[in-house]
Amino acid sequence: MPTRIGPVFISCNPGEQPPRAGMDERKKRARAIERRLAKAYPDARCTLDFRSPLELLVATVLSAQCTDERVNLVTKDLFRKYRTPEDYALAPPGALEKDIRSTGFYRNKAKGLRSCCRQLIEQFDGKVPDSIDALVALPGIGRKTANVIMGNAFGKTTGITVDTHVRRLANRLGLTRQADPGKIERDLVELIPRSKWVSFGHRMIQHGRRVCKARRPDCRHCPLDDVCPRVGVEGK
Ligand code: SF4
Repeated sequence: MPTRIGPVFISCNPGEQPPRAGMDERKKRARAIERRLAKAYPDARCTLDFRSPLELLVATVLSAQCTDERVNLVTKDLFRKYRTPEDYALAPPGALEKDIRSTGFYRNKAKGLRSCCRQLIEQFDGKVPDSIDALVALPGIGRKTANVIMGNAFGKTTGITVDTHVRRLANRLGLTRQADPGKIERDLVELIPRSKWVSFGHRMIQHGRRVCKARRPDCRHCPLDDVCPRVGVEGK
C-alpha cells in the first residue's frame, strides 16, 4: 500500500489554493512523481518527427495550437520541399503559407519561420545555433521551443519544456503556483534533478495527453493518485 505524500486538497472553491507545502515536502513529492511517471511512460520522447535541428525548429513552431500528429503529416511533405533556411526565407509569397495552412495560424507561422530563417542565414551561416541564449534571440523562438531543440536535437539539458500540459499538471500536482511558463520552469528545475529535466518534460506531456486531461482528468486510473493534491480539479 503506497504512502500518501501530502494531503488531498478539498475545496468548494475551484480557485482556492491549498496551503503551500515546504520545499522539502515539494521535493519529496516531485521525486515521487518523477519516478512514477518514469515507470508509467518509460519510452516517452519527443513526438515530433525530425532529422535535423532545423526540422525540429520548424516542427516546433508549427506545433503551436496544433497536434503533433497533424504537424507530422504536414512536415512529411514540407521537409522534402524545404531543406535549408534559404528555402523558407526565399519561398515565393503565399507558397509557405499554403504548405503549412492546415496547422492553423499559418500566416503568423510562415512570417515567423521566414524571419527566423533569415536570421539563421545572416548570423549563423544557415545553421541552428546550439545555445539557448542564441535560440531565444531568434524571431518567434521562445524558451519552450529553445528547450525542445536543445534537449532533443542537440542532447543538451538547459531546462524543462513547459507547454500547456506541463503548465496544467505542475499546478494540479502542487509543484508550482505560477501561470507564467518561465516561472513554472524556474520552480520545476528546483525540484527535479537536472539529469531528468528532458525526460520529465516528455513524461508530463504524455501524462497530460493520456490521463490528466484539461477537462476530465482520469484521477481514478492515475498512477499519481496518492501523491497528487489535485489543485483546482473539480469534484474531488
Ligand atoms: S489525473 Fe488526477 S490524480 Fe492524476 S495528476 Fe491529474 S489531477 Fe492528479
